[in-house]
Amino acid sequence: MTAAPDPAPPVAGGDPARPVAIFDVDGVLADVTHRLHHLRARPQRWERFFTEADRDPLLDEGAARLRAALADHDVVYLTGRPERTRRLTERWLAHHGLPTGPLIMRDDLDHRPARYMKREVLRGLAATREIASVLDDDPSVVDLLEADGWPVELATWLPHTRTLQRAQERDGRT
Ligand SMILES: [Mg+2]
Repeated sequence: MTAAPDPAPPVAGGDPARPVAIFDVDGVLADVTHRLHHLRARPQRWERFFTEADRDPLLDEGAARLRAALADHDVVYLTGRPERTRRLTERWLAHHGLPTGPLIMRDDLDHRPARYMKREVLRGLAATREIASVLDDDPSVVDLLEADGWPVELATWLPHTRTLQRAQERDGRT
């Protein structure tokens, strides 16, 4: 099934005059390594993979980038995590002293690879806001967004694993 939910609405709040810095969560701010084994299992344990995200260590490099960006940007999180993990993700961000939003997540029924969802969201956001930077750890996301003209940077402090890459490509689940 291919779900095509409505594009995300413009970001509420913030200062429209400030440029927007987009941050991915998994692999940029959150260290997912400890829960990847759920995706290597057969059958894959997707719910366990998501629910154990509350124990992700914070990635210091990503957090430092985020705090620096906050000085002169509105920071918006753009993640392939499903909406049903919103509470968990907000609690995790708060626990680490980071802003809890705006947080744009994948619709629970949207199983497309994350890069298409992210491209769609950026196109929507750009109608009202200047997108100054996008930080993501997934090379396939970075390639597509770069080709679409966005100022995107590949986060390399947690190498994007082949496990996650294959899961995204084949299942479009995260
Ligand atoms: Mg990521």
